[in-house]
Amino acid sequence: MQALFDFHTHSIHSYDATATFDELCKNALKKGLQGICVTDHMDFDKKDPGYGYYNYDAYMKDVNRCREIYGDRLLIKTGVEITYQKEFKDKIKQFLGNHKFDYVLGAVHLIDHVFFLNPEYILGKTINEIFEPYWQEVLSMARSSLFRYIAHLDFIKSVEFKDSREFRVNDWMPEITEILENIIESDAILEVNTSALRRRHTGPYPGWAILKRYKELGGTCVAMGSDAHSAQHVGFGFKETARRVRELGLKILRKQDV
Ligand SMILES: [Zn+2]
Ligand SMILES: [Zn+2]
Repeated sequence: MQALFDFHTHSIHSYDATATFDELCKNALKKGLQGICVTDHMDFDKKDPGYGYYNYDAYMKDVNRCREIYGDRLLIKTGVEITYQKEFKDKIKQFLGNHKFDYVLGAVHLIDHVFFLNPEYILGKTINEIFEPYWQEVLSMARSSLFRYIAHLDFIKSVEFKDSREFRVNDWMPEITEILENIIESDAILEVNTSALRRRHTGPYPGWAILKRYKELGGTCVAMGSDAHSAQHVGFGFKETARRVRELGLKILRKQDV
């Protein structure tokens, strides 16, 4: 089988990750990956716990150092995961204009300045109040043309309910379809993020129904990311997920495509 590339990982340059660059590279080699991209978090919201943590120079220093050590066996691409909020569009644009990356991932993590997987986000909200603002923000991100790669499209499905409320993907297919159409029209690429398998899901982010819809609408290619925040999760669940992605008729992005 063709070797895979992990396009979404985090190092200690992310406030919430524990892996050093060396550990990520070593595990990527151990798992037989083609290459790795470390996409540490860049956040623009003062209420985001990761705000102010990002350090491009320290990040690049590690990239260059690890290319020296592992570069003959592992391709190391540069990347970043940016938390998208429409109010920070100009700041994001400015940041991307001043910093060079091979791979820029756009992600929605916050709604009304709150991380939506925090229990307080769903407190007292109806299903519509929980999910609708999320799809709106993802749509705004897809329309912004700021990102070539769209991270964990249905991340919000991981909200945890202790009552009868639940996430049903088919209820949101019109919204999701509009988002996918915008992604395809703007030549962006959907990420298949296997970190969902480390929560309670049987498929990645986005789930199989959404990936099927992406293909039906004309989507051709996906990038695989583990979203590893610790070294042992590099390339997690890739083999089986890649097999199913290919069964859907989607191509998996290779190192030479970036
Ligand atoms: Zn993310
Ligand atoms: Zn991430």
